[in-house]
Order: sequence, then C-alpha cells, then structure tokens
Amino acid sequence: MTKHYDLIAIGAGSGGLSAAERAAMHGKTAAVIEVGRIGGTCVNIGCVPKKVMWNAASIAAALRDAADYGFDVMLNDFDWTQLVGAREGYIRNINDWYRTYLKDSNIDLIEGYARFVDQRTVEVNGRRYSADHIVIAPGGKPLVPAIPGAEYGITSDGFFALQAQPRRVAVVGAGYIAVELAGLLNSLGSEVDLLLRRQHFLDSFDAVLRETLMEEMVNHGVNILPNINVERVEKGDGGQLKLHCGGGHELDGFDTVIWAIGRAPNSADLNLAAAGIAVDDNGYIPTDAYQNTSVAGIYAVGDVTGRAQLTPVAIAAARRLGDRLFGGQGERKLDYDNIPTVVFSHPPIGTVGLSEGEARRLHGDAVKVYQTRFTPMYHAFARHGSKTAMKLVCVGAQEQVVGCHIIGQGADEMLQGFAVAIKMGATKRDFDNTVAIHPTSSEELVTMR
Ligand code: FAD
Ligand code: NDP
Repeated sequence: MTKHYDLIAIGAGSGGLSAAERAAMHGKTAAVIEVGRIGGTCVNIGCVPKKVMWNAASIAAALRDAADYGFDVMLNDFDWTQLVGAREGYIRNINDWYRTYLKDSNIDLIEGYARFVDQRTVEVNGRRYSADHIVIAPGGKPLVPAIPGAEYGITSDGFFALQAQPRRVAVVGAGYIAVELAGLLNSLGSEVDLLLRRQHFLDSFDAVLRETLMEEMVNHGVNILPNINVERVEKGDGGQLKLHCGGGHELDGFDTVIWAIGRAPNSADLNLAAAGIAVDDNGYIPTDAYQNTSVAGIYAVGDVTGRAQLTPVAIAAARRLGDRLFGGQGERKLDYDNIPTVVFSHPPIGTVGLSEGEARRLHGDAVKVYQTRFTPMYHAFARHGSKTAMKLVCVGAQEQVVGCHIIGQGADEMLQGFAVAIKMGATKRDFDNTVAIHPTSSEELVTMR
C-alpha cells in the first residue's frame, strides 16, 4: 500500500530537511528520504568538517604567531588522525541529533534511494510513497576530469576520508574548494601545489579579493601554478603520483592529488522523466522564482537547481517554500540577490553584492569605488604579516552600496552585519554615519574615503 503525505522531500540535506521541517511546523504530514547520512553534504562532507579543518589551520597560524606575543611555545606535533577522529565524532553527534529531531517533529525518515514513479509517487526499496507536494533536494557530487589516471586522485569527499596527513599535495581547480583545501593543508604543514588552468582563481569574485588572496597564499608558501592543464596522471612504483600536463610539462612526487573542479547535480538516477520534470543540459533542475519545477506540485531547492550552491540558500529557499505552501504566505519566496558568502581561505574572504567589474558593466560611470588595504594590528605586531583589503562598490548620486568585499583576518565574521545593511539599501552616507568600533579591522568599512 502507498503511504501518503502532505509533503515528501528527496534528500535529508540542508534543503530537504528544511522543507520537511517547515511542513511539519505548519501541522502537515511530512517525510524525508535519504540514501546516505542525515545532514547531507554540509554536515558530513562539506561545511562542517571543512570548518573544523579550517579552525585547526587557524590555530596552527596562531601558534606560529605566539612567540611574537611573548609565548614560549614548543610545537611538538600535529596529530591529523586524532583531529579527524574527533571531527567525525562531532559529526556523528549531529547525525544522531537530527534523527531524534525528526522523530520529535513527527517527520518520517525513509532510508534508501528515491525514484519517481509518477507526478505524485516515489519508490524507495520497492515501497511506494505519495504526496501532494514533492520537494527535490538531492544536492550534487564532485566532478572528476575525464583523463587517464584521474582515479588516482581524490575529491573533497576523499579529502574528508583521509586518515593520515598528506605530505605533498596537488590541488587542481580554481573555485571555493580548491582555495580552501589548498590554504588549510598549507597551514597545517603539507606541501601544496595549486594548479590553475587559467591565470587566476575565484573568477567571479572582485579582483581585489582574487589578487590579495593570490599574494597571501604565495607569501605563506602555497606553490601556485597558473595556466596548467593536467592531461594524465601516472602512479609510480612507490605510489607517488606524476602529473603530465599540457606543453610537455611534468610535475612529480605527489602523494595526493585533489580534484576541485566543480560539482554536478544528483539528478540523473531520479527517473525524473516518469514525472515529466525538465532538466537543463547540465542536469540541473530549473525552477521559477517560487522553486516550482516544470510540473505543478513538484519543487526543487538547493544545489540541484544550480543557483548559489550554499547551505543557507538551500535552507532559506525550502523554508520560504514551506511558508508559501502551508503557511498562508502566497508570495513568499527567496530573493537570490545580495547573498553574502564567505570563502574559508587563509585569510578568509567575505563578499556580498556586485563586484566592481559587474557594477561597471551594469552602471558604467555611475559607479564609485572606495578601497583600502592595510596590515591589521594583529599582524602588524607579529612577524608573519598578512594584509587586509576592503572595497565598497557604490552606485548613483546617493552612492548606494551595491557591493562589499573584504579579505583578511575576521572577514568571515565581519560580513553578516554589513550584508544586512546592503540588503536594506544602505548608502555610503549611512556607512559614514555609523560610529566606528575601535580598534578593529571592520571600522575601516565605515571610515573609508
Ligand atoms: P545536500 O546537502 O547535498 O543534500 C542532498 C542529500 O540528498 C544527500 O544527503 C544525498 O545523499 C541525498 N540524496 C541524493 N539523491 C537521493 C535520492 N535519490 N534519494 C534519497 N536521497 C538522495 N556551503 C556553505 O554555505 N558554506 C560552506 O562553508 C560550504 N562548504 C562546503 C565545502 C565543501 C567541501 C562542499 C562540497 C560544499 C560546501 N558548501 C558550503 C555547499 C553546501 O554543502 C551545499 O550548498 C549544501 O549542502 C546543499 O544542500 P542541498 O540540500 O541542496 O544538498
Ligand atoms: P566551483 O564551481 O566554485 O569552482 C570550480 C572551478 O574549477 C571552476 O570555476 C573552474 O575555474 C575550475 N575548473 C573547472 N574544470 C576544470 C578543469 N578541468 N581543470 C582545472 N580547473 C577546472 O566549484 P567547487 O567544486 O570549488 O565548489 C562547488 C560549489 O560548492 C561552490 O561553487 C560553492 O557554491 C560551494 N562551496 C561553498 C563553500 C563556502 O561557502 N565557503 C566552500 C566550498 C564549496 P576556471 O574556469 O576559472 O578555470
């Protein structure tokens, strides 16, 4: 017999859990289907374990600075295996918490792989479940290049499975994951080459962020190799990996190669055709502004939509969808403009709104930019200096702030509040009218000339 719900979510990651939760909150019956671990990418193989590793890398950097602040510290060892064990224990607690939370919220957890049978029904392990509303939130998976020997490399999934610290690593890619993993591995003491197929990384980010990060990473020991195309990977008798690159270039002696070249949606095996759900050429499920797919009563949220692949975006889209469907808020939807984002690089980047380049393309001469670059007090005091750079992109006679870009210590925590101001339409004058907090780096954002 088919069990019926008001809402079924496919995938118990950031988006699916939030959709089911919001339905239950509005008194509806809900189920979430998960083939892997509850919490999805973010909890298990994304944001959470990444942030633990980033925290460890930040402690390594602080230990390096400790002597300048008067501490007589002898660093004996760093135990990767212990850190990974503790990290996975922490994640298991989150998994367990979710299990209890779902039970307490009267949300059924159906374990297995969901496939569509028709527009109202999915099948899991041979059992059928139907719903008035189905939310597709299966996330994505890392891409691996189609080159000989690619299987000798790992992706971010494999990185989180490493039980021992890699000693000599090649990170291939130019996005969030490439710069984050390269930065934290370098800070933890691995020898890191970062291979870019073009001249720079973080292509869609403001130039000040890209350029400052590139300089900082090089200064802190990452070997950045631009314009390199890996064509083949060879494994030597001793297990070491050799990269054969375009132009006859060879790079040898790696124990680990990490592919960080983007992600693909988990949509191919859902049998979407049975429900007539449209996908684009890359497998993403297009949605309108209200998360509706091409089929009434079927929605998609999160990474599978291909838009702003961030945990809070998946959560926000799903919650608003739930409020729209069950909370009597017929126009509720996520505004995808001005989404703040942080890259957990070393140093971190915080950015929201238009880059200077985008703003100039859209608004031409109406753009005015305020920019600063300085050594923050923490680093001015220590030997291993690290720069901070900030840029405000303003438009029009009122100088509305349409972009805020920060790189430097604390940028990750600095951005959220400024993102509120920008979302509210703050002008440069509003920034200037705000009294600074001293001594901080963020005060520079309200005192720029
Ligand atoms: P997911 O969280 O991927 O959840 C999808 C779930 O669906 C998975 O658990 C999967 O097993 C399940 N599933 C798939 N198909 C089926 C099926 N047919 N049946 C049943 N279950 C299925 N974002 C941030 O905001 N900040 C960060 O710092 C950050 N760091 C990241 C670091 C890494 C290394 C990675 C890879 C991503 C990171 N992200 C970060 C992105 C973030 O993890 C994703 O945007 C977010 O998890 C997307 O949520 P989702 O619900 O769309 O999918
Ligand atoms: P991204 O899409 O961010 O970047 C991948 C980049 O790799 C491409 O932009 C491209 O850059 C480069 N690339 C593509 N193919 C190749 C190739 N064959 N060889 C070499 N380089 C290649 O993907 P990620 O995997 O880094 O991350 C996926 C998404 O996950 C992110 O976009 C983000 O939304 C999310 N994420 C968020 C984080 C956060 O919030 N802190 C952290 C991690 C992930 P180019 O074209 O310039 O060469």
